[in-house]
Amino acid sequence: MLSLSASAMPRTLDPEVRSALAARIRYYNEMGIYDFYRRPLSDPSGEVAATIAVDEAETAVLANQPVLGAEMSPRKAAAVAIPIVEENIFEVIALKPEQSVSDPAKALKIIREDLGDCTRCVLHKQGRKQIVFGVGNPKADLMFVGEGPGADEDEKGEPFVGRAGQLLNNMIKAMGIDREQVYIANIVKCRPPGNRTPEREECETCSPFLMRQIAVVKPKVIVALGAVAAKTLLAMSASMAQLRGRFYDFRPTGIRSNDPNWDGCKLAVTYHPAFLLRDPRQKGEAWKDLQMVMKELGMKAPKQTT
Ligand code: SF4
Repeated sequence: MLSLSASAMPRTLDPEVRSALAARIRYYNEMGIYDFYRRPLSDPSGEVAATIAVDEAETAVLANQPVLGAEMSPRKAAAVAIPIVEENIFEVIALKPEQSVSDPAKALKIIREDLGDCTRCVLHKQGRKQIVFGVGNPKADLMFVGEGPGADEDEKGEPFVGRAGQLLNNMIKAMGIDREQVYIANIVKCRPPGNRTPEREECETCSPFLMRQIAVVKPKVIVALGAVAAKTLLAMSASMAQLRGRFYDFRPTGIRSNDPNWDGCKLAVTYHPAFLLRDPRQKGEAWKDLQMVMKELGMKAPKQTT
């Protein structure tokens, strides 16, 4: 057994170290151990040290954690999906209030009420008209997660209702299902001004609510639309070329599952419909991604009518 003192554990953890620690903590979670403590100790020199016991294997993990998703197996990708807010990795992961409710529609309502008139990140004061929570079947097998609301979504209070939303509807239809059968949400629930990309801090502040929505809906497959959604959900940085074309094992970060029948789901990455509007040549690639998802869900595409 080894121990890392405060001098070896900087206050702000390196993302890779944070990922490895979170993976270890989830390993303990899987064994039914949920309680972790920061344990301040005074070392002989009088410095306060946060001592964390790790074994050699864990040390090896810390040293060898890959940087890009292309190098990760799906199992490892699932492991890195844990640590979005670093302060949370040592906290007790308690059951969320909605987890005592069996009706997913009611559970989602509890999350929405918990969110309230949210002012948790700066997006609340940058011109949003309303919070765009999420829409669709609360028991959906398939969930789409985008980046954030645009002007149309901000106006209507529903994700993916503008031109990109129309294209998403067509993509869903091409899969042989309707929009009402899936659940649709975004990483951030308030419109970034000028449709800019949400900042990492905004994503990290808002996404715990999305994680709770995912844990309620319990989809079989999540499709992350675009790089922001993919990188936030998987807590990893890689190009779309590296992220697409495979499944990742995914569990919502910071949620302790209370359902023995749902222990996470598959996650696939494809292009955001807004990107496909700008570069329609990539629609064929997106369709390949959706076909991979359909295969996983045992779906067959409807026959083309001419
Ligand atoms: S984006 Fe999310 S965290 Fe930020 S203010 Fe809106 S609801 Fe709150």
